[in-house]
Formats: sequence, structure tokens, C-alpha cells
Amino acid sequence: MDDLAQRLRTALGDDAVSVDPGVRRTASTDWAHMSPVLTARLPAGLADVVAFPADPGQLARAVALAHDAGVPVTPRGKGTGNYGQAIPLRDGLVVDLTRARRVLDVGAGWVTAEAGTPFVTLEAAARATGQELAMFPSTVGSTLGGFLAGGAGGTGSIENGWLWSGFVTALDVVPCTGAEELVHLAGPDTGPLLHAYGTSGVIATATVRLRPRRDWTALFASFDRWTDAVAAGLALMASLAPVPRLVSVDEPGIVAALPADPGIPRGRTSLRAIVDTGVLTAARQAVTAAGGVVEEVRAGGAGLLTSLSFNHATHRVQKTRPGLAHLQVGAPALVERADEVRALLPGALLHLDGLGGPDGPEFVGLLLTRYTGEEALRGAMDALRGIGVHVSDPHTWELAEPLDDVRRAAARYDPAGLLNPGKLPAAVPARPVG
Ligand SMILES: Cc1cc2nc3c(=O)[nH]c(=O)nc-3n(C[C@H](O)[C@H](O)[C@H](O)COP(=O)(O)OP(=O)(O)OC[C@H]3O[C@@H](n4cnc5c(N)ncnc54)[C@H](O)[C@@H]3O)c2cc1C
Repeated sequence: MDDLAQRLRTALGDDAVSVDPGVRRTASTDWAHMSPVLTARLPAGLADVVAFPADPGQLARAVALAHDAGVPVTPRGKGTGNYGQAIPLRDGLVVDLTRARRVLDVGAGWVTAEAGTPFVTLEAAARATGQELAMFPSTVGSTLGGFLAGGAGGTGSIENGWLWSGFVTALDVVPCTGAEELVHLAGPDTGPLLHAYGTSGVIATATVRLRPRRDWTALFASFDRWTDAVAAGLALMASLAPVPRLVSVDEPGIVAALPADPGIPRGRTSLRAIVDTGVLTAARQAVTAAGGVVEEVRAGGAGLLTSLSFNHATHRVQKTRPGLAHLQVGAPALVERADEVRALLPGALLHLDGLGGPDGPEFVGLLLTRYTGEEALRGAMDALRGIGVHVSDPHTWELAEPLDDVRRAAARYDPAGLLNPGKLPAAVPARPVG
């Protein structure tokens, strides 16, 4: 390991390599502590060396050196993944991409940037050309590469779906084969790299979709009844053109954990939406038609609404009510069979965000339930699945099936299994027939 650290210093420069214990610990931590199940397994790995490549060439060199030394390599962005994706379970080298943060080019409908570029930088670059990102996560300081390899969706996902639904048009990827090279992948060939935790290649640059820039306004509404707020949210997503950039709904138990704001009155169900300023009248009408009150419309409030969406709701509730575990849930059954969902998890709190899909817009959400142990939590997940609710498990750092494409790409670009080992489960051998 000393030898690898020295070679990395020679290749990247002294200030781009660290074996300092504090730096190693920071580079080995993410937001896995959001899950009580994963918290019990922490700490789960410690980087021996941390490298900070400043560009794709340095990244390719670092990965090739680790490959030649037979050392595991875990890529890292901002470390905000909330299920341990960036933890180096088998120690080794962590490549922190946050210094590789240049926007390389912006064209009509696309931006190309280095993997460590934060979303705030990407959005600013897009806006300067009259465009905006098709989507970005609520963690706006997180990196492009980290989101593509470890995230799912966010603001913009009502119109553009999950990040694997066409957001990415091309990637330059560093394979872990010993060859110091970049492999260019375009269109569907990028698929096996997306949400694969870097197990099938390290993303050096990415090209992602932009949309024409819009003038967004934050709309704050409140409701007596949860069902009315959900109906209003679905109406906003289905009827407004342009489609809202974000629609979130929180019940009073979650509202109590949100920052004090005149647009989010305590004790009521809150609906917040980022809507095109040109359709504000229609948005107001949809809210009042569903029995709600428009509390406020706020120019410049879109950033606040993003910061209250997706797992930011979990984070805020956990700060005030420790002992809750979150479940990532979706599918129409989540709202259509709401009474059954609540009967299965009495007292659970529900946060919803809008998502567009092939069958039209729907809500995905976070169910926050009292944590009484892993077995009970997994039982709850099974019960929810039993009534048609989609549950993706945020309490494991193993990638979820189906993974055939990821395994095929990993076999090609990481034949020695050195990339983020411990995350890509081995395929279960097919049973012999007969
Ligand atoms: C409060 C909170 C709110 C969140 N909200 C959202 C949300 O709205 N939407 C959402 O999708 N996610 C969300 N997340 C999860 C996470 O913040 C995002 O997915 C984020 O974009 C990850 O980026 P990062 O730079 O922090 O990546 P990291 O956490 O550093 O890495 C994530 C994964 O990608 C791998 N990786 C990193 N860089 C590369 C690379 N260049 N090449 C290959 N692999 C790489 C890492 O090894 C790891 O497996 C949230 C998390 C928290 C804690």
C-alpha cells in the first residue's frame, strides 16, 4: 500500500494523495447512518489511501495503478449516498472525484462535465445558455458522477422520470483493466453504469440532458385532508403544461419537522409545487378545486422546495424524532390503497414526491416508521409488497436484481473485481434442468 501511495504521488502530485487517518475516515463515510440497519454495521471499511484526481487523465492513471497493485478502488463523489454505496467495504484506494469538476461543453439540449461537478454548477452553466437540467437530486451539492452511479431522481423527475430513463446520453468511463484509457459509451450502452455504484466502471465525464429554461415559482398550499392534497398533487401533475418541476406532499407529522415557514402551516397537510410562472392561475385553481388553501406563491422559492424533497424529509424528521426508519415506496397502490398501507404500519409518516412514468405521473414516497428491529422492518417491506406497493430497500448496500447487464459490464471493465467490491452480489447459478 505504501508503494501504491508513492506511485500515486508521483503520478498525481503530493497534494493529490493522502494517507492521513482523518482524510481516510472521511473518505470512507457516507449517509448510511440514515438507516438503523446499516448503522449497526458501521464502520464497515476504511480507505488505506485517498487520491484526488483533478481530471479524467489523472483518474485513469490512479485506477490503472491500483489495478496493477491488485488494490480495490472505490470511486467517490460528495459522499451523500444514503445506503453506504460509497463505503470502501474492502478498504484499498478511494478516488475522490470532487476536484474533477469542470463543465466541458454545453450544447442545445445537453451538457458534458467531469464526474465531480456539483449540480449547482451544472445548473448555473445550463441557465447561462437559456437551458436547465432535466433533473437533479435534492442534494444539490452532490456530484454528477455520484448521482448517476448512486442516485435515482429528483427535481425534474415528473417530466423526465428516473435518471436511467433517458437523462444520460453519453459517458466516458475508466475501466479497471490496467489499460490507462477512457471508454466512450453512448445511449443505451450507458445503462449498465447507471445506479451501479461504480462496480462496472468509473465515470470520468458524463453528458446529460437539458431542457429549455423556464421561470419557476414555488407554490405553497395546505389542506385539511391528506386525500385532498394527494388528489390536488395528481391533478397538478396531470393537467399543467409545462409539467411542474416538483410536487411534494407531507402530512402534519412531517410538517412539524420542517422549518418554520408561513407557507407551511403547522397541523395541516402541506403541498408544495415548483410550477411554471405562466400557469400559476391554473395551479391555484387546481388547489382550491381540491379543497385546499394556497398559502403563498414565492418567486425564488424553488430552491427551498427542492431542499425539502425526497430524503431531505427523512433527514429532517430523524433529527427531531430519532428511532424512525424509512422505506422508499412507490406505485399507484401507495395512494390508492392508503388505508391498507396505514393499517400495516400504524403511526407511520408519509412524504410524497411526484414522478413521471410510462403510465403517467404518480407519487413515490418515504414511509417513516418506528424501528423495532431489522426483522420487523423487512416484514413490513414484504407486507407492503403484498398489497402492490413498490418498495426499494434503503437498508442494504448490495445492489438489487436484476443485475445481468451490470455483471456483464463489470466482467468486461473490471475483470479482477476490484471496483467497489462487496456491492455487486454474485449471480445465483442457474439450477440444472432435469
Ligand atoms: C438528505 C438526502 C437527500 C437525498 N436526496 C436525493 C434525491 O433527491 N435524489 C436522489 O437520487 N438521491 C438523493 N439522495 C442520495 C444522494 O444524495 C444522491 O444520489 C447524490 O446525488 C449522490 O451523489 P454523491 O456525489 O454524494 O455520490 P457518492 O455518495 O459519493 O457516491 C454514490 C455512489 O456512486 C459511486 N460513485 C461516485 N462517483 C462515481 C464515479 N465518478 N463513477 C462511478 N461511480 C461513482 C460511489 O462509489 C457510490 O457507490 C439523498 C441523500 C440524502 C442524505
